[in-house]
Amino acid sequence: DVFKVHSISRIIEEVKTLLETQAIIKGNDIITSYQYEEELLITCEETKIKQVFVNLIKNAIEATSNGHIYITVKKRGQFVEISVRDEGCGISNDALARISEPFFTTKEKGTGLGLLICDKIIDNHNGTRKIESREGVGTTFTITFPLMKSPQPS
Ligand code: ADP
Ligand code: MG
Repeated sequence: DVFKVHSISRIIEEVKTLLETQAIIKGNDIITSYQYEEELLITCEETKIKQVFVNLIKNAIEATSNGHIYITVKKRGQFVEISVRDEGCGISNDALARISEPFFTTKEKGTGLGLLICDKIIDNHNGTRKIESREGVGTTFTITFPLMKSPQPS
């Protein structure tokens, strides 16, 4: 895989399609919202960025039953900000402190590697990631990536 210019909305929609059946089986709706005027482009390894959102949305689906998963995409200066919010079980403060450790999982058949892989890929793309979570309310992961640089006027 190589770094190329891709539309972030196309990537998100393709990942959504991939996971929609899994969401429906648990009674969850995935709702996407694109809050910007012109197409947002990022320079990235497509399969890697897809892996990030597959991992985050899978976690959201696994945490949530009969709820909504909101994926919101916004432009923030020279960055795109993508948030994945669920109405699931939330994360305890103890778990939150350990969430990025390799093999940390609260699931019977979890690997505890998903977020570690996400962080590595995000870092490789000069992105950032933050988490907000409340037990019994839900969790929001917010990711940013630098937008493709437009040509400088000469
Ligand atoms: P795994 O999914 O295999 O457990 P991850 O690295 O993807 O590994 O996630 C680690 C842990 O973080 C999960 O076991 C879970 O406890 C917690 N977690 C991650 N995302 C969420 C979420 N959206 N809601 C609740 N807990 C989450
Ligand atoms: Mg996971």
